[in-house]
Amino acid sequence: MTAASSALPQHFDEIYQSIPPTVTLIAVTKFLPVETIRAAYERGIRHFGESRVQEAIAKQAQLTDLPDITWHLIGHLQTNKARKAVEHFDWIHSVDSLKLAQRLDQAAQELEKTPHCCLQVKLVSDPPKYGIDAAELGSLLPQFDQLIHLKLRGLMTIPPQGASKETVREVFTGAKSLADTINQQGFTHLQIDQLSMGMSGDYQEAIACGATMVRLGTVLFGPRPPSA
Ligand SMILES: *Cc1c(COP(=O)(O)O)cnc(C)c1O
Repeated sequence: MTAASSALPQHFDEIYQSIPPTVTLIAVTKFLPVETIRAAYERGIRHFGESRVQEAIAKQAQLTDLPDITWHLIGHLQTNKARKAVEHFDWIHSVDSLKLAQRLDQAAQELEKTPHCCLQVKLVSDPPKYGIDAAELGSLLPQFDQLIHLKLRGLMTIPPQGASKETVREVFTGAKSLADTINQQGFTHLQIDQLSMGMSGDYQEAIACGATMVRLGTVLFGPRPPSA
């Protein structure tokens, strides 16, 4: 990889600077080389998002000289990789079932870690997507509240592919009010203070609706190479 091919697009800083300081910018580097991560790090980025555990582990092994990176897992996680995810990520945004959460909690206890987690929720029907239906979440909350080795403190959501502006807004405002509703129930452990929502096409809307973390790939780095 030459210096030129890992150079960041010209608009990188402009996008980066446009994110309000109260919102965490997670640079999504899935399928991108470690040189791109280094280049973004040099511009000041410290939060990086990856969608696959194995790919992230391989990159982390080449970046051990950058110890202050916060790693975010944003892609679907199979329960049999829960332990590896806890070992290698500070944040797991894609907790999309109680069973997965229980596995993560168990791994966290064994590894004596306390990963930050988001529940991935679906505010509107979206059959192809992973996530817990908002309507089903309520009855599961007491069980999530028992998972004391996880810092279950966020909701993550993705609007359906090709959703209208209205639907996108409905999803984002729905996530915000779901977080408020959860917090009003007075759980001992479960407290939502993070909303992980907004990707390249809709992050401005997400921020307007209360996002505290945006996950941006294409708008920062340009189009990704196809996945392996
Ligand atoms: C790939 C991905 C992103 C980044 O998508 P862009 O549209 O390139 O910004 C954000 N969140 C998740 C869950 C992703 O898989």
